[in-house]
Amino acid sequence: MSDIAQALHALRERIARAEGRFGRAPGSVKLLAVSKAHPAAAVDEAHRAGQKAFGESYVQEALAKMQALSAPNIEWHFIGPIQSNKTRAIAQRFAWAHGVDRVKIARRLSDQRPHGLSPLNVCIQVNLSGEATKSGVGPEAVADLARAVSALRGVRLRGLMAIPPPAADLEAQRAPFRRLREALEALNADGLSLDTLSMGMTNDMEAAIAEGATIVRIGTAIFGPREEEA
Ligand SMILES: *Cc1c(COP(=O)(O)O)cnc(C)c1O
Repeated sequence: MSDIAQALHALRERIARAEGRFGRAPGSVKLLAVSKAHPAAAVDEAHRAGQKAFGESYVQEALAKMQALSAPNIEWHFIGPIQSNKTRAIAQRFAWAHGVDRVKIARRLSDQRPHGLSPLNVCIQVNLSGEATKSGVGPEAVADLARAVSALRGVRLRGLMAIPPPAADLEAQRAPFRRLREALEALNADGLSLDTLSMGMTNDMEAAIAEGATIVRIGTAIFGPREEEA
């Protein structure tokens, strides 16, 4: 097995263990392999090892990989902040966008989604910590944004996404994920039917699974450290 295949195998076991430990149904946590800053060849290796969904944060980088790979059954997720001038490419080329935090962006994605494709799956990114520099909508504004996004035809609101700041231990990591889950429950109690909590990365995956993550976004544990951070 290649390093990537081996890492994927170990990670799938880690996810299964967390599902068991926290009373989650087996297979209820979907793995999104975050391939940003890694070459198309790495995506190809993971894909050959059975991985179907890949996450990218930069549109140009993602488009280059899509062209290099042309594997028709890869499911591409855009997980970075979404700029207005990138919405067309995202609407045309991706299956999911996790970082929606403004109605204007959601509208553009909806309007620009090609008619032949099913609606773009989107998550609203929530800024749980109130850090001014982070992307994401504040918790108090989630309900209004969710209602506005749900009314659009070219996108399908699936749920919420967050990137909490690093925390020391499992209990501290769980707190923001719990708030995200409660925000999702509140929206569903309000009449929406959302099924997705996109939360958890390499270092806080167990905490996210404990609190109900349905998609974990994992890069380092599969592909190793990224250049920018190595
Ligand atoms: C880079 C990134 C990840 C993956 O982080 P790792 O710590 O490498 O697992 C997940 N989500 C988002 C939004 C990212 O930008």
